[in-house]
Amino acid sequence: MNDHDRDSPRRQDVGDGTRAVRAGLPAPVKNEPTLPGPVFAAHFHLPGDVEGPYTYGRDTNPTWTLLEEAVGELEAPGQDVHTIVFASGMAAVSAVLLSQAQTGDTVVLPDDGYQALPLLRGQLEAYGIRVRTAPTREEAQLDVLDGARLLWIETPSNPGLDVCDVRRLVDAAHAGGTLVAVDNTLATPLGQRPLELGADFSVASGTKGLTGHGDLLLGYVVCGDPELAARVRQWRKIVGAVPGPMEAWLAHRSLATLQLRAQRQWANALAVAEALSGRAEVTGLRYPGLATDPSHKTAARQMRGFGSVVSFTLPDRAHAERFMAALHLVEDATSFGGVRSTAERRGRWGGDAVPEGFIRFSAGAEDTEDLVADVLRALGVAGGGG
Ligand SMILES: *Cc1c(COP(=O)(O)O)cnc(C)c1O
Repeated sequence: MNDHDRDSPRRQDVGDGTRAVRAGLPAPVKNEPTLPGPVFAAHFHLPGDVEGPYTYGRDTNPTWTLLEEAVGELEAPGQDVHTIVFASGMAAVSAVLLSQAQTGDTVVLPDDGYQALPLLRGQLEAYGIRVRTAPTREEAQLDVLDGARLLWIETPSNPGLDVCDVRRLVDAAHAGGTLVAVDNTLATPLGQRPLELGADFSVASGTKGLTGHGDLLLGYVVCGDPELAARVRQWRKIVGAVPGPMEAWLAHRSLATLQLRAQRQWANALAVAEALSGRAEVTGLRYPGLATDPSHKTAARQMRGFGSVVSFTLPDRAHAERFMAALHLVEDATSFGGVRSTAERRGRWGGDAVPEGFIRFSAGAEDTEDLVADVLRALGVAGGGG
């Protein structure tokens, strides 16, 4: 270990906040900024033989390199991992599934995962890849693993917030030679570290809580195995689903506040969930951080924080729409994980198996009292109570 390594946040014994503010920063260079600005380049000077690291902008970019280093540190502190950033979460999800599975292979997907997964399922099947599905809850995927090339886990699931036991599924999958990928979007690397739970890939949308400002799209794949990672990197080169340097830089800049944002947002989510739990018109309340939640035991074992998303159901569509319209501090918008609270009546998209009155609520970084008061006031208006 050299002097730089000794001070490096890659060490496992620093706290999450310390790691977040320093993640991916290059060694200090006199008169240079702490985080170098975005490098806008389609190509790089390349006299003579083709030698990296920087040749052409679809293959590599110095701004990605720093971001990839940062995300790798957060997802797997102290481990030697390979990180590949993408233009969006779906670019990253597709890159893993389409680069690892071939015609004749079987992959296992959750049937209650992100709403674009069924579209991807159709594409996999069109390529002659067999797809089996099972719900996230109670490790139902254990029963459909046999002979599969890859198991895809989304925990907590979006939008139902079910949680499965990653370690248990990984052990069963690996025993049969099945690779495991975990969608870590909802938890963020501060809330959950899938590679430490044995997964082969941690995959996420950086559009949500990771970057938290609702101003960019990004995705990433983290993988401990160099050969598996090389296939994902090659897929990015083939498809060209690369992030712009500006997005990559904004994302890296946002990571410095990840722990501050996550702590406030997780606390706000818990406070909102607790306030909702006392309301007669609310059913199906889910938040893995609530001690009474069906997912709490498993979540508490494998998660370091329970995320910013709360889901619940109001009596019907009209009630849910009145609630949404009455909120002042919560924007009616999709996505989640941002510093400004958002919520939506999820059924309006038509892609999820949810009741008409189902609300997916994402707690932002507002003052807790203000946010809870706004939610309770809007519930009162929606219920006709003034
Ligand atoms: C949003 C989301 C994605 C897709 O990410 P994009 O950045 O929108 O492409 C994938 N998985 C989950 C769980 C998500 O919430």
